Amino acid sequence: MKTKELFRKIVRDCADCGKKMTVYIYADKNKINRGGHYFGKIGICSKKEKDKESKSGTKKWKMDGHTFYSYKYEAKPYKYLEHWECPTCYWGSRNTKFPPCNTSTAFSR
Ligand SMILES: [Zn+2]
Repeated sequence: MKTKELFRKIVRDCADCGKKMTVYIYADKNKINRGGHYFGKIGICSKKEKDKESKSGTKKWKMDGHTFYSYKYEAKPYKYLEHWECPTCYWGSRNTKFPPCNTSTAFSR
């Protein structure tokens, strides 16, 4: 009798350091993927859109007593990519990084 495959092995590049990682996706969705962290899909913007964004000027907004600035124009992504990070980047730079598009255009000063 053939043994049922319990997990699928996929290889992904880390979005931060580019390192290859092997991720195990279990057929049982309650089990956590091993070997990498999945952040869902992120938008990838063209250089033209990014330029438009950086030239649009900034607007100020407040949250929890902190002042943030974000671009007035939000770059529209032309495609979406799966965002994966290796454990090193995930645990090492969790709070310091922002994905390239959408809310990501916010930065603090
Ligand atoms: Zn990495």
